Amino acid sequence: MHIVFAASECSPWAKTGGLADVVSGLPRALVKMGHKVSVFLPYYRQVAKAMPDAKVVLQSVTIPFPYYNRFVRILDGGVHWGVQNYFVDSPELFDRESFYGTPSGDYPDNAERFGLFSRAVIEATKIMGVPDVYHVHDWQAAMVAVLMRSTYYFDPVLRHVPAVLTIHNAGYQGWFPPRTIEMLLLPWDMFTFEKLEQDDKFNFLKGGIVYADALTTVSRKYAEEIQTAEYGNGLEGTLAKRSGDLFGILNGVDYEEWNPATDPNIAAHYSAEKLAGKKECRRDLLHAFGVENVSDETAVIGVVSRFATQKGFDFIVDIMDRLVQEDIILLMLGNGEEYYERLLVEMAERYPQKIRVQVKFDNVMAHKIEAGADMFLMPSRYEPGGLNQIYSLKYGTIPIVRATGGLDDTIDEQPNGGGNGFKFWGYDSGALLDAIQRALGVFRNKTEWTTMMKRAMAEDFSWDKPAQEYVRVYERVVHNRS
Ligand code: ADP
Repeated sequence: MHIVFAASECSPWAKTGGLADVVSGLPRALVKMGHKVSVFLPYYRQVAKAMPDAKVVLQSVTIPFPYYNRFVRILDGGVHWGVQNYFVDSPELFDRESFYGTPSGDYPDNAERFGLFSRAVIEATKIMGVPDVYHVHDWQAAMVAVLMRSTYYFDPVLRHVPAVLTIHNAGYQGWFPPRTIEMLLLPWDMFTFEKLEQDDKFNFLKGGIVYADALTTVSRKYAEEIQTAEYGNGLEGTLAKRSGDLFGILNGVDYEEWNPATDPNIAAHYSAEKLAGKKECRRDLLHAFGVENVSDETAVIGVVSRFATQKGFDFIVDIMDRLVQEDIILLMLGNGEEYYERLLVEMAERYPQKIRVQVKFDNVMAHKIEAGADMFLMPSRYEPGGLNQIYSLKYGTIPIVRATGGLDDTIDEQPNGGGNGFKFWGYDSGALLDAIQRALGVFRNKTEWTTMMKRAMAEDFSWDKPAQEYVRVYERVVHNRS
């Protein structure tokens, strides 16, 4: 099959979170299975910096708007691990400081930016080769599915091509004013609750959910959760209506990048058979956070995360005063919401012996934390898939998680460290503290702890199995449309 991916992030060029890792990892696995995959990404300033010489494939693709046209170029990003990459180049819209907005808010023209991107993918592939399936990701590319079944409905080369939408996070839906419908040249009769309207807003993700041939989310649990009011963010009804076409496929991870036996970013290599290197990684990590001479009895707890309410930082802040009484050091790497950036830095200033924070996006440091910490904390309020807990398993860094979404699907707690991690239920910071204390209890018994680490490291979450599940979804939608 030929599958065209459209997404707003793809590692290593444009990454703010897990989406980028999925959009690079899944295509590689599909290629290994013998499929052909092309990935389209906006030519952001950051991508242009990394790939300044990308060759022009199409000099001018016309994207119409109500009173003007925009003209975009399609650039060849080359073939990497067998995957063909293309970039949509529109400097007015994508040559900016960041992908989605500034700390003070999203770019006001995001509907135009990602509406244009989606339409450009369709137009470009019409010229360069229509795929068997479009696989589009999150609200930023959801318009591909909408346009296919509206603007391009009668197009003889597109009408039999299905679109699959993967929801990586239903918390971000792309809400815009009603008049967006005119800007995207769609008819007003699509601005109804059954189609694109939600709370009097034009909703990109909802459009994708309504019009895509099939929907997937990044874990089985999250596929169930988003059909409930607690997690669906208003879209639960729309999702429930499509439950027969909604599949939860747990994310795989790329063990070529995340493997302590080969990782070039860490101080020493190690494996379940030869664990010694992990100690060296731990020393190196503590040093990188300015901490020296830490006893082996002290548990190093790592966090790598967007600083966002979603990730449960309010629970962490809540228990901080109690947590610092334990024999631990908490090392946090992340950035995001200003509120948490400031609050966590304040905490670190209050307890410099116990808490350290680095506010930045730093891939090398993320690897160092995975390798050097003893435990990894991820108390998310909701977590569609979650990758860090899976990386942590591979690095023998025991996850402590809230039992939601992909965290619940991947982490299994059994008495006395008999599983691969620790987890808690409910929205309850006390339950988080209890889970950490259970982890510390097992940590004090070095034999039990080592057994647990080895069990975690033996788990396999590579892309092979999820890629097969995606192929089954592609086959189904192709079959249904033919
Ligand atoms: P989400 O996509 O919701 O942010 P995931 O756990 O699915 O959460 O994926 C997060 C990805 O982003 C991981 O690969 C993680 O290592 C990376 N990441 C998050 N924050 C940072 C940071 N500050 N520096 C480096 N990498 C980060």
